[in-house]
Amino acid sequence: MAAKTIHTELGKERRCSKCGDYWPEDSEFFYSSRGVIQQPCKACYAELPSRKERKANQVKAQKLHIPVPCAGNISLRVHQA
Ligand SMILES: [Zn+2]
Repeated sequence: MAAKTIHTELGKERRCSKCGDYWPEDSEFFYSSRGVIQQPCKACYAELPSRKERKANQVKAQKLHIPVPCAGNISLRVHQA
């Protein structure tokens, strides 16, 4: 079983659970949540199927210029006032 973290002359490095490579344990290579390093590394995270789908949907939404559905709410408030 490979170690999760190793110490090199450059400092502490963490093994990515997906690609298996060791990367410096900082925000440049890993996302962190409340100080806890998240897996996988940023490079692998960008390749996750869910992430790719989300990115594709974002691009689609930007191209379509979907209007913000708030007009109905505003008229409702006027009637109540
Ligand atoms: Zn990785």
